[in-house]
Amino acid sequence: MGTPTIDQLREQVRGDVISTGDEGYEEARRVYNAMIDRRPLAVVRAMNAGDVMAAVNFARESGLDLAVRGGGHSVPGFGTCDGGLVIDLSRMRGVRVDPAASTARAEGGATWGDFNAATYPFGLATTGGIVSTTGVAGLTLGGGIGYLTRGFGLSLDNLLSVDVVTADGRFLVASERENEDLFWALRGGGGNFGVVTSFEFRLHPVKDIYGGPMFYELSEVGNLLRFYREFIADAPEQLGAFPAFQIAPPLPFIPEDRHGDTFIAMVACWAGPLEEGENALKPFHDVAPVVAEHVGPMPYPALNGAFDALYPPGLQHYWKASFVKELTDEAISAHEAHGPDVPAVNSTVHIYPINGAAHRVAPDATAFAYRDANFATVIAGMWPEPGQNDANIAWVRDYYEATAPHSEEGGYINFMAADDQDRIRANYKGNYERLVDVKRKYDPDNLFHLNQNIKP
Ligand SMILES: Cc1cc2nc3c(=O)[nH]c(=O)nc-3n(C[C@H](O)[C@H](O)[C@H](O)COP(=O)(O)OP(=O)(O)OC[C@H]3O[C@@H](n4cnc5c(N)ncnc54)[C@H](O)[C@@H]3O)c2cc1C
Repeated sequence: MGTPTIDQLREQVRGDVISTGDEGYEEARRVYNAMIDRRPLAVVRAMNAGDVMAAVNFARESGLDLAVRGGGHSVPGFGTCDGGLVIDLSRMRGVRVDPAASTARAEGGATWGDFNAATYPFGLATTGGIVSTTGVAGLTLGGGIGYLTRGFGLSLDNLLSVDVVTADGRFLVASERENEDLFWALRGGGGNFGVVTSFEFRLHPVKDIYGGPMFYELSEVGNLLRFYREFIADAPEQLGAFPAFQIAPPLPFIPEDRHGDTFIAMVACWAGPLEEGENALKPFHDVAPVVAEHVGPMPYPALNGAFDALYPPGLQHYWKASFVKELTDEAISAHEAHGPDVPAVNSTVHIYPINGAAHRVAPDATAFAYRDANFATVIAGMWPEPGQNDANIAWVRDYYEATAPHSEEGGYINFMAADDQDRIRANYKGNYERLVDVKRKYDPDNLFHLNQNIKP
């Protein structure tokens, strides 16, 4: 039989196979983080699960590295590789809503923008990310933290079933009733166990929300963060809100003479009854003078897309992350020392609350172990100029070093850098050995290793 050729793969798949030298190769090899510059042998733009099965078989039989790309947002650039095969799901973005059952099924390449646009007309939503261009796939398989987490849990807590192509090329359905071990591992284990071609989610009644960003002077950082840690501990769960260090972009709601100044912001999303929204956000107006704000009723997808322009594709990215149980005075001092130095308008630091519904899931019920953490902090370095890489990376690292002693050992895998592989075991705490067992069963040769890797 011999090793299959790219031309044979082309004959097997409905989608495109874009190889070195083909038109569109330069665009096809590119991922969101422009710091990642890799040249795969070929990119398969799959159209259906059958294409994915063919591509997985091809990579395995050819001994090629295999990268899987959903939305392409992976900061370490796991969605591409040098010399190997990329399965790109960006042509599989369909979302079908079942309003009677309050569920939706999204294909493996859908973004949250695709998802929210499909569910919004039915007045339904589930937990997704903060921006609309992130992939449903990578975000959900690692956890899924967003505006609705306090009320509805992580994105993965809302998964009902998945269709997945495993390393041996089989198509499996995984849920609480079938292939339960795989379903358990996929909920937090990232891309380690197969290519998910379709996700079935539980939906919740959310249509228009009341929220948006509020900007405060940097002199309020300590005051605001101390208020936030107490307030969010038992705030109503319909309220999602996170503080952020942010350089003011040139937006009309910010006084022109303050464009380019650095602020501490609070971004809020009240997903309860609209008429209660103003009151729900009142504590954020009482705690300190608000310099600028863009708060009010809006469709949930509008808030989900509100910050997309700050994060266009093609920026340089370097991120670090930690889970945090208590936002101690020492931790707040570290934020006061480093947050105001945020070096670029695209860079930010977010302290997401992950209490509420996510805490009501047992730490061993899914692979996502940090059910006792109250916050997930991300120091997200994003900037346009490659020439500024050293300075921006240094800011992220120094900030991370300052907060690490006040944080948990593990961090959210979706916010972690490529140089964080030694923290993976810590990230899964007591679930790690069980993840290794599932990995040995479904991917004993570690075909899916371009991820925050769980070694078989
Ligand atoms: C601008 C920006 C904003 C973000 N905001 C949030 C946020 O609000 N909340 C949050 O929780 N995270 C957020 N993230 C992090 C995000 O969750 C991760 O970057 C995630 O990996 C992105 O998923 P993706 O499908 O877009 O990425 P990809 O690069 O396509 O994939 C990332 C990883 O997931 C695996 N993968 C992708 N698709 C599949 C699939 N179909 N089957 C199996 N494995 C697959 C890949 O192998 C890879 O390891 C953000 C990232 C960025 C860059």
